[in-house]
Amino acid sequence: MSERADLTLADVARLEDVLDADALVEVCRSASELCALPVRVVSCEGERLAAEGHAAEGHAADAPAIDAPEDLAPEGAEVADPRSPGAFYRVAPIAYQGRRLGHFVIGPYSPSLTASSPAREGIPRVPRETAERLSAHLLGVIDVLLFSGHRAILTTEMHVASVRESYRALSEKTAALQKAYDELKELDRLKSNFLATVSHELRTPLTSIIGYSDMLATGLAGPLNAEQSEFVDTIRNKGDHLLALITSMLDLNQMERGELTIEREPIDACALVHEVAKTLAPQAAKKQISVEVELGDELPSIEADAVRIRQVLLNLVENAVKFSPAGARVVIGARATTAPSQDEMGLALMGPRRALELVVTDDGPGIPESQRERIFDAFYQVDGSSTRTHGGTGLGLSIVKRLVEAHGGEVWVDSAPSGGSIFRCVLADIVDE
Ligand code: ADP
Repeated sequence: MSERADLTLADVARLEDVLDADALVEVCRSASELCALPVRVVSCEGERLAAEGHAAEGHAADAPAIDAPEDLAPEGAEVADPRSPGAFYRVAPIAYQGRRLGHFVIGPYSPSLTASSPAREGIPRVPRETAERLSAHLLGVIDVLLFSGHRAILTTEMHVASVRESYRALSEKTAALQKAYDELKELDRLKSNFLATVSHELRTPLTSIIGYSDMLATGLAGPLNAEQSEFVDTIRNKGDHLLALITSMLDLNQMERGELTIEREPIDACALVHEVAKTLAPQAAKKQISVEVELGDELPSIEADAVRIRQVLLNLVENAVKFSPAGARVVIGARATTAPSQDEMGLALMGPRRALELVVTDDGPGIPESQRERIFDAFYQVDGSSTRTHGGTGLGLSIVKRLVEAHGGEVWVDSAPSGGSIFRCVLADIVDE
């Protein structure tokens, strides 16, 4: 990893990069106060990074620059002041992991303790061992400071490197996702085009098949015997089924392309429910299923696309009849309810609004809770024997969901007390009377 290379000690080239300036001054001050000796820290470039004790002793300005030779022993050495006989300094290198970063200087001091030796004005007198011990102490403290300072830098740099690495990985993933998304979008477009073309091409000959079988059935081409009639009926029924499937596919395709238009006008829910019940009564009667209507009081008037809402109810009731056993009862209901108000962004606005709830209840096998969301997906069918027995395309409910959502409404399924299903559809687009 290239970033890790940044974290090697090669980068700790300057003392001031690793050591906190305040901490360094504080260390020098306490060392200076400890033995009443001037102390200063000098960088490799000769820059004075901290200097304590000189001002008090009156040597701040004229303290000579003491050279720290390259071959200075790690524990430091005593150096005589060339300009001031009898004055000495203790000089020690500051190194970190084999790299010289600077040095510190203790002094000047006069190591002579005998009364006969001349006292130099302004130069403190301390035993040599004291300066040596102070130097060792200072070396130890600076070493600890260097170690922790360097560790803090490493931690920060590692953190920065890991954030940079995460960002890079994230950018790569985002780019890959964007690419996959673009490809999927293109595939989706191709699929939609393909579906639209194929469905259209299938529908034209199918209309002829249905039309000609109708003509045959009505005897336009001469009378048919019983067996021929039965065959023609089968052709007609299968043709109708195929046409319904193609129409559903075209509808769904149109909705997926966002080409669905909703023509809103006030609709009469009561009339709509009765009309759907009447339309499907013959189909239900074949299975001795009764289709009943239950209407609540004061149904709200909603603005909706009557053709689309009729399709929603037809799909739901057709399913109810299809999945209910012979002799069962299917109920189509409508009642007033409330729905949370939402703006175009889906944010809740003030107070609930009146809404219309359409309910289709059946005595069928019901839908397991785990499948209740998925049945609204295109081509999804509950994997059970009833589904296989009843056939179907798995498109009806996905069309229902899209139509209801295009109206700003909601559709879901619950369990009926009888064990069957209750499909509820709430349309909140209300115009109050
Ligand atoms: P289709 O009915 O053509 O299979 P739908 O999209 O209308 O497609 O329904 C999807 C699936 O949901 C059905 O295959 C069936 O498994 C389940 N389903 C729908 N309505 C009912 C119902 N009233 N009772 C039981 N299962 C149902």
